[in-house]
Amino acid sequence: MSDTIFGKIIRREIPADIVYEDDDLIAFKDINPQAPVHLLFVPKTPIATLNDLQPGQAELAGKLFLAAAAYAKRQGFAEDGYRCVVNCNGHGCQTVFQLHLHLLAGAPLRGGFA
Ligand code: 5GP
Repeated sequence: MSDTIFGKIIRREIPADIVYEDDDLIAFKDINPQAPVHLLFVPKTPIATLNDLQPGQAELAGKLFLAAAAYAKRQGFAEDGYRCVVNCNGHGCQTVFQLHLHLLAGAPLRGGFA
């Protein structure tokens, strides 16, 4: 795991409110939530940005989405809806360079993407 803040969370070197973990990924609450529910789904494999995702990691990418959807179903907000976002590099406002999927939910979210 590369040495990002998320790597430290995965290695339990800093605390986080972890809501899900398996062999491939971890999910925890965002420290600065932008919605009533704001989670980060993070692969344990070091992948800095979406640009760095390899074809051989397609299953891992799918697992991120499936884990987010499964969480939404378990928590009972899947039918109301939610948003999944991946930010990439500067124009995408990525600030932590370990690939992660934001899951935002819990209220009607604003439309638009910028
Ligand atoms: P990005 O901007 O890279 O797409 O998203 C990074 C996210 O990580 C931000 O929403 C930010 O609030 C969150 N974050 C940054 N540092 C920490 C931390 O130490 N703990 C947790 N739980 N979230 C963090």
